[in-house]
Amino acid sequence: MVAAVSLQNVHKVYNNTCVVNDLSLAIQPGEIFGLLGPNGAGKSTTIRMLTTLAQQTQGDIVVAGYDVSRQSAQVRSKIGVVLQQISVDADLTVWENMEFHGRMHHIPTAQRRTDICRWLDYVGLSDRANDKAKTLSGGMKRRLQIARALLHNPSILFLDEPTVGLDPQTRRRLWEIIRELNKAQGMTMLLTTHYMEEVEYLCDRIGIMDQGKLIESGTLKELRQKHGEGIVMKQKGERWEYLFFPTLEEANQYLDQQPDKQV
Ligand code: ADP
Repeated sequence: MVAAVSLQNVHKVYNNTCVVNDLSLAIQPGEIFGLLGPNGAGKSTTIRMLTTLAQQTQGDIVVAGYDVSRQSAQVRSKIGVVLQQISVDADLTVWENMEFHGRMHHIPTAQRRTDICRWLDYVGLSDRANDKAKTLSGGMKRRLQIARALLHNPSILFLDEPTVGLDPQTRRRLWEIIRELNKAQGMTMLLTTHYMEEVEYLCDRIGIMDQGKLIESGTLKELRQKHGEGIVMKQKGERWEYLFFPTLEEANQYLDQQPDKQV
């Protein structure tokens, strides 16, 4: 099977610092892949390179069958992107935000109207179509971002921390939307997250990045079999450590002994 997303020996250097260091990874069509790791690990930079927003310093990246450096327009036509910072235009209405994106992708008028209706309905925002985006809640803005990312019918969706800062109920609603897109339409997804629950609910496979390197990858089950049920992430100054325990009880016992624990 040809991978939906493939990175081979990818490096990204900013100001003489290698923030993505020899990253190789393949994501299969229809897979939901979760990228985990502490802040500064290089996850967003990886997504930016995959979505043509940043150029790799070295290595090969192929997305939806196209080379991101040489065929960036083709890549952009095949991908949907939901970035961490809410990027909807606050002073435009929900409909206008969709309309603007549809025109950027040259979707013909009649089809654009039908598809805007379809996706706003899908994410439950039809009744807010004429409201300015600034009047939406955080969860609604995120849903608008997702609807907009889907408008040009991409085959791969990239989501950078899609549920960060949202309350548990809104988060669950977004998970359902994401999972449904994957199950019903076979859409490939790459998402970054800090939430273990999100990984359990959504991801077929995960990769853990640290200091620009992929230090682990596999299914959650595989990682648990290899390292144990309990994973504790511990910050040591600028560095993060991953500690693995055979059982959750042992992980909790360890946590209980820590003076500065954060659950
Ligand atoms: P993550 O998403 O895992 O938190 P990032 O990819 O945002 O990590 O950042 C990885 C490293 O790259 C960080 O040290 C960050 O400061 C650095 N970095 C990211 N973008 C830039 C940039 N445009 N210029 C310089 N350094 C950057």
